[in-house]
Amino acid sequence: MSYEGKMLEDLKMPTKKEVGNALLKTLFKHNGVIKEFATGEEIVNEIADEFGLKENQRTVVLERIYRKENRIVKTPLWHRLLYRAADSLAKEKLVSRPTSTILLTDRKEWMLTENGFDEAMKLLNIPKIHKEFLPTKSFEVQKIVKKLIEASRPENYNPFDKEKKIVKTTKESAMRTRGFRQAVIEAYDCKCAVCGLKINSPDSIFWEVEAAHIVPNSLKGKDDVWNGLALCHLHHWAFDVGWFALSTDFKIQLSSKAKNLPGNFGIMGDYEFIRTISTKERMISLPNRTEIHPHKNSIQWHRENIFHP
Ligand SMILES: [Zn+2]
Repeated sequence: MSYEGKMLEDLKMPTKKEVGNALLKTLFKHNGVIKEFATGEEIVNEIADEFGLKENQRTVVLERIYRKENRIVKTPLWHRLLYRAADSLAKEKLVSRPTSTILLTDRKEWMLTENGFDEAMKLLNIPKIHKEFLPTKSFEVQKIVKKLIEASRPENYNPFDKEKKIVKTTKESAMRTRGFRQAVIEAYDCKCAVCGLKINSPDSIFWEVEAAHIVPNSLKGKDDVWNGLALCHLHHWAFDVGWFALSTDFKIQLSSKAKNLPGNFGIMGDYEFIRTISTKERMISLPNRTEIHPHKNSIQWHRENIFHP
């Protein structure tokens, strides 16, 4: 048995397979990405805590002699085990290596692949049906996101996708939908563009904010950032039914029908949900990069076809 193998056994360290499964679950909870393993990284302790590792199991150092250079390299055994587990996940194509992820995100990170995503969902007992709405990253979907946010903004934009299939979903169309959601939600920093609400579930898995289509999906509105807006559930609903629209300079216009609403409608405690949507025609919050702002053709179509002025 190797010196490393003996150390792992003597210290009763978890197996590579166990660490691999823990890594998949941790990746999932960290939005699909974790940094490389290094001392001081929170993730290293987080997974160690999960296994209830004792102090010596966390700190013991493995010494390897590089004979050629005649020097000793010291690595914490725990880091080495994490690395080996991640490396075998990469061989099984369940994660992408930091050397591949950096080409996509400019950061050296391990990232779930679509297969790794499915595997993590199984380990966490999350039903498949939720996959569509999970903001967790996967390598394949991030490729779509990158394409969406880096595409050059068309002057004459048609927000309709004639070819779009509404009823039948294929693996590709499901990934495109997730790419759209991810791109929009990230662009707006997970906040509602109208009220600024930013909140996720206690387990950090689900975000409240939604990626709304400006020209609706049901009418074959395109899945791209120029036809998208991040909105909380309430404002998404109010936008879809035409309670408010956006002017070309992104100011909120409220339907005049709000004046005729019964006094007890649209009120949550002290909060006047409908009547406060548009105080003094204020602007929505937008991403910093103007290239990914909603396109005027989308918001104009919504204003003319969905909005009740
Ligand atoms: Zn909102």
